[in-house]
Amino acid sequence: MSARTGSVKHVTSTANPLIKAVRALHQRKARAESGLFLAEGHKLVLDALAAGWTPTMIVAMEPATDAVSDLGARVRALGADVVFANAAVMEKVARRENPQTVIGVFEQHLADPKTMPAGTIVALEEPRDPGNVGTIIRTADAIGAAGVILIGSSADPFGVEAVRATMGSIFHMPLARMDADAFARFAAARPGPMIGTHLAGSVDIRTIDAGPSHILLMGTEQSGLTAALAQRCDSLVRIPMAGKADSFNLAIATAIGLYELRRPHL
Ligand code: SAM
Repeated sequence: MSARTGSVKHVTSTANPLIKAVRALHQRKARAESGLFLAEGHKLVLDALAAGWTPTMIVAMEPATDAVSDLGARVRALGADVVFANAAVMEKVARRENPQTVIGVFEQHLADPKTMPAGTIVALEEPRDPGNVGTIIRTADAIGAAGVILIGSSADPFGVEAVRATMGSIFHMPLARMDADAFARFAAARPGPMIGTHLAGSVDIRTIDAGPSHILLMGTEQSGLTAALAQRCDSLVRIPMAGKADSFNLAIATAIGLYELRRPHL
């Protein structure tokens, strides 16, 4: 437990510098500079606490319900500051009408991929859509994957939209970022095959036995896997399709791929 009890402030103005700093976390630049991110919702903050994450601060709706007051006391005891704000200020912080009653500010944590245990790693090459990134982190968590790796420049997993889509899994799933060269070295050193998903894959994913430990590699939304990474895969698999769509959405394809590869282990 932190030696310091967090402070309490009551804010009524959207011009308050603290409120401005929290609002700025909707922007990627401010998140990169501060190393912080926002998690919206009472339940999400409770999930974070249960997973061992302590916010640096929460902004909580005033007048506070008993449950919100209890949460405020709990995080203060852990050293987090609590800012009580009226509905108008909460709307500004959340950038939406009908905001959540609690918004948590957390430090970003990334995992060292070498510490990811045996099992399934989901690797995404330059995913652009934050909703896809968040949904994939949630799906990887649900299926019991060992970790998620974002390769190259990608949507920010700590953006509000991505965090919202994770539904709390951002606090559970080991997450790493690396460039393509570092990823290639990591993949070569990790036991088990790397299975790439590709529209032109020569193998039907339903026939694959990837063993208990493997990497599932997904391509970017617009143009799929680059040749450089595709050629490093042990297999390129396709997910059979029957209709007129040219491909599955990235998050949907990841869910199908994960289910096929994890099926023997569920
Ligand atoms: N136009 C892109 C292309 O040519 O690959 C479509 C990319 S798709 C929206 C995003 C990713 O989902 C792909 O790179 C691949 O990893 C996976 N994917 C989607 N549908 C797939 C399928 N039927 N078989 C294998 N992978 C698929």
